[in-house]
Amino acid sequence: MGYGFFGIDIYYIILVLPAFLFALYAQFKVKSTFNKYRKVINMRGLTGADIARLILDRNGLHNVAVQQTPGELTDHYDPRTRVVRLSDAVYGSTSVAALGVAAHETGHAIQHKVEYAPLAFRSTLVPVAGIGSSIGPYMAIFGIMFGWEPLTNIGILLFTLAVAFYLVTLPVEFNASSRAVQVLETTGVLTHEEISPVRKVLGAAAMTYVASAAVAMASLLRLILLASGRRDD
Ligand SMILES: [Zn+2]
Repeated sequence: MGYGFFGIDIYYIILVLPAFLFALYAQFKVKSTFNKYRKVINMRGLTGADIARLILDRNGLHNVAVQQTPGELTDHYDPRTRVVRLSDAVYGSTSVAALGVAAHETGHAIQHKVEYAPLAFRSTLVPVAGIGSSIGPYMAIFGIMFGWEPLTNIGILLFTLAVAFYLVTLPVEFNASSRAVQVLETTGVLTHEEISPVRKVLGAAAMTYVASAAVAMASLLRLILLASGRRDD
């Protein structure tokens, strides 16, 4: 995000770096938690794909397909094509970790069906957030470097929209996970003992979204402080 332009400034050290380290920790934690509970097999022998299909059908979402997708932690729900895509480690796995992830992704499909407002808002922010997070910081940094305030302000505004995207992602993700746990509890496909690891896996995944939001907010605050410092010169 354009750190190279100013080198390492004080705001980078006190704001961005701690958030970045937290994000690294969250990434490590989600992988280690997932790896731990991918060894715990559910008693009924259901796969990630099975549980996704079961939850979707019980919610009347027969038209939402479940597909396998390559990569690690690449699981997602695609609202445009209405497809739940599960990674190789989740799709055919009977581990409680895989079931948790699969249930979480169906949570997004249910959000889509019930027109959950934060999800709709998040979708409208997707295009502008992409632009905002890629070019916004560079515009702001150039504006600060060359003392051109309009460029700085537009850059900061664009990046603010990207930060809004990261923030609205939080209720969307937390809500999908709570729907997942709730549906696994009510359907009774998992035992009481199997639900607890699912909570841990989903909790670790939620922390990565909190970390991403923290990095984005810290980066934004840094840009605002650098810009106001420049104005005071
Ligand atoms: Zn999600």
